[in-house]
Amino acid sequence: MSTVYRIGEVHDDYCTSCHLLLSHDIASVVNGQIAKTTCRTCFNTHDYKQARIPKRPAKKEETKRSLMDQVLRNMPQMPAMPPAPAPKPKRDLWAALGRINEKKETAAGGDAK
Ligand SMILES: [Zn+2]
Repeated sequence: MSTVYRIGEVHDDYCTSCHLLLSHDIASVVNGQIAKTTCRTCFNTHDYKQARIPKRPAKKEETKRSLMDQVLRNMPQMPAMPPAPAPKPKRDLWAALGRINEKKETAAGGDAK
């Protein structure tokens, strides 16, 4: 028993624009088989997909970690760290105070004479 398809009949098909299984109008019939359908939702006319949802191509298993590794691999190398500056010698404040006091004494002694 074969089904007779007529143009304008409603038939379920996979819409290539909506990416859903939706009602379609048969747009053309070739040799008794549906050739093209028109989506009743978006009015997109496309080849008949036998109401089958197409398989998606297998996705590459890429995690955030592997993507980050790829980015880091392509980054230019960081320049070497410059050497740390030599630490400043600590000021001996007591010696500085002694020098100041010596100057004051010589200045004061010089005035008194
Ligand atoms: Zn559609």
